[in-house]
Amino acid sequence: MMNNHFADIILPLAYKGQFTYALPDEFAGSVRRGSRVLVQLGNRKLYSGIVSRIHNTPPPTRNIRPLLSILDPEPVVNEIQLKLWSWMAEYYMCSVGEVMKAALPSDLCLEGLAEAPVTEKYKPREETFVRLKEPFSEERLNEILDSLARAPVQLRILTVYLDLAGYIPGGSMQPVRKNLLLREAGAAHGSIDGLLKKGILDLFEMETGRLVDYDRPLEALKELTSEQLRALKELQKIFSDKNTALLHGVTSSGKTELYIHLIDEQLKKGKQVLYLLPEIALTTQIIQRLQKHFGPLTGVYHSRFSNAERVEIWNRVGGLYNARDYKLVIGARSALFLPFRNLGLVIVDEEHDGSYKQQDPAPRYNARDSALVLASLHGARSVLGSASPSIESYYNTLSGKYGLVELKQRYGSVRLPQIILADSREAYRKKLMVSHFTPQLLGAIDNALANNEQVILFQNRRGFSPYLECPECGWIPKCVQCAVSLTYHKGIASMVCHYCGYSSSIPSHCGNCGSPGLQTRGFGTEKIEDEIKIVFPSARVARMDQDTTRGKNSFERILRSLEEGQTDILIGTQMISKGLDIENLTVVGILNADNLLNFPDFRAHERSFQLMEQVSGRAGRRTKTGKVVIQTSDPGNRIIRLVLNHDYRNMFKIQMEERKAFNYPPFCRMIRISVKHRDRALLNAFSDFLARDLKAVFGKRILGPEYPPVSQIQLWYIKNILVKLEREQPVSRAKMQISRAIEKLMKEKGASSLRISVDVDPY
Ligand code: ADP
Ligand code: ZN
Ligand code: ZN
Repeated sequence: MMNNHFADIILPLAYKGQFTYALPDEFAGSVRRGSRVLVQLGNRKLYSGIVSRIHNTPPPTRNIRPLLSILDPEPVVNEIQLKLWSWMAEYYMCSVGEVMKAALPSDLCLEGLAEAPVTEKYKPREETFVRLKEPFSEERLNEILDSLARAPVQLRILTVYLDLAGYIPGGSMQPVRKNLLLREAGAAHGSIDGLLKKGILDLFEMETGRLVDYDRPLEALKELTSEQLRALKELQKIFSDKNTALLHGVTSSGKTELYIHLIDEQLKKGKQVLYLLPEIALTTQIIQRLQKHFGPLTGVYHSRFSNAERVEIWNRVGGLYNARDYKLVIGARSALFLPFRNLGLVIVDEEHDGSYKQQDPAPRYNARDSALVLASLHGARSVLGSASPSIESYYNTLSGKYGLVELKQRYGSVRLPQIILADSREAYRKKLMVSHFTPQLLGAIDNALANNEQVILFQNRRGFSPYLECPECGWIPKCVQCAVSLTYHKGIASMVCHYCGYSSSIPSHCGNCGSPGLQTRGFGTEKIEDEIKIVFPSARVARMDQDTTRGKNSFERILRSLEEGQTDILIGTQMISKGLDIENLTVVGILNADNLLNFPDFRAHERSFQLMEQVSGRAGRRTKTGKVVIQTSDPGNRIIRLVLNHDYRNMFKIQMEERKAFNYPPFCRMIRISVKHRDRALLNAFSDFLARDLKAVFGKRILGPEYPPVSQIQLWYIKNILVKLEREQPVSRAKMQISRAIEKLMKEKGASSLRISVDVDPY
């Protein structure tokens, strides 16, 4: 009997067991770990999957199906990626298949039915090129040119061709696109045929790809200031005995310039670098800054690329099919799944940012934490950067797990912005408010506009107003599928649910008492935009939020307009809080700090501090000291006082005391189990059942089941059970016990209509 008769395949399913297939002899030589193969599952379905193991242990079942085909000449996934996938599946309590589904570009995941042939979704882009039919000698070429004397169009095409191909006698020539040649020669489509027939030119197809390479001249790196140089040296020193460093630098201190120097160092060593950013909105400005130095070595990866483009980026990072390689990849969280071959450095910018966490679907992973694991698998170093680090990361520097490097000066010794508190409650009482603006904010905007400076206004809610209300009876229009109020969007004249996307027309009458005239309550970015246009009619106003940035290039358009001084006032959600580096921006307004602080979550205070610090950091980055106006009805609030003094240390201290008192991370580990059912009574029964079982094992470490603040989404009622585990205990055993309790629940009668999801580190 031959060796290696079986292959375990990762399929894009939540099932956690093995899928084993027979490996026909004909494939045995060409299938490896990481190969993409086609298999049949059950009676009808076909899937592409990734080979995770080749072995000769017969599985217990008797009728083993064979692999159907191998889809690529080389494995598309490498060893390190497979290791990362297994780590993620185990740590985040999901199947490896779910990780694969998040990791692979969707065009590499094929699905079909056994009756019909499955075809690849990705098609390489090919174009028609022109070349000389033969490597003619110089003499021969002159003869040919002479012979065309009476065919002026053909002569022109040939001379233009030689020009475009960079012809010099005896030298090599560039392939020339047929379309380009005809355009440059001003020739009609068929006019090249004569040259083809005469055996002078030849057409051929070549794969060109969809990605545009940076082709402008490169710029030298900026020289670091002495303070930045000191930080760079400290980082290098830390890396001689630690893998991870936290770079805590105030906004505009030159963190990005430091990254650029670190990247340069790695590229010179022939290593790859991953640069993670929390949101795509941020990438535009950063990409431009990096491309200036690293040109076509720079690749970008995020969800706004087309499926085909994502396959091409994948190939270029992996060096598959001899594509031109990317050495530096900038991307949002999914970029960590790319097939890096020799990572030297991982940068996680704005490491505290909540968008590094994927909420749904599984894997519910934190990209910062996973990127650290990826780095260690490569033996690479990592830098986490932030102006207001997450509590966990800062804590890790105190415990010695990470090194800490600080930058306390803004570049050019520009001072940190001056922060002004504006008491909105008092202003309302004294009738000093104009729309939603305090006199302090209006004054600051007025001043900025008079000096031709720019302003951003931050409001953490999109839409016109968060809800409508009947002034007679207090009725509020709610989503028909979720337990939340509908947000009023004026521009599209609709009520929209921000949880499920449901939308309806605007009710003209109260749904309860029938009286007409519902009133708007609260305000979102759209309303602020309307109002600011009334207060400052000559200002050029733009808005940046989820609603205005749906198109692929919409971010760029809005940012460019701001950069070029075409926008005076930009209103936005947290999208505008990060990364923006605009010279002429001097005033930042935070319209309502209260709804940040009152968010029902143990991290609300940490997050609001970070957000306010970050938005503030956009103001006055070059020459003038910026001004930040924070509107709040609670000016004595402790967190706001800390923001006022940019006092990170004390924020950290106070948060640590609270977390310790109430046992929250970093003092414990949290795992959240969400149980969902369409029937409220059954949900209660099942979630109680699960909690009881878990309490038998974990005792007081189990909290709940409880309804979350939004207790129903898309008709599914939700209850959460929270597990709080001691840091010191090994967590893998606890995870196994949780999985076992869930499996037991799923065997109960009627449990198949439950949905259960597990979220490890749900914050
Ligand atoms: P951060 O990432 O900490 O917010 P940046 O790297 O964006 O800071 O720096 C803020 C601004 O100052 C940027 O426009 C940057 O180009 C400029 N800058 C920082 N350091 C230098 C330097 N050493 N030489 C020239 N310009 C610098
Ligand atoms: Zn009413
Ligand atoms: Zn809804």
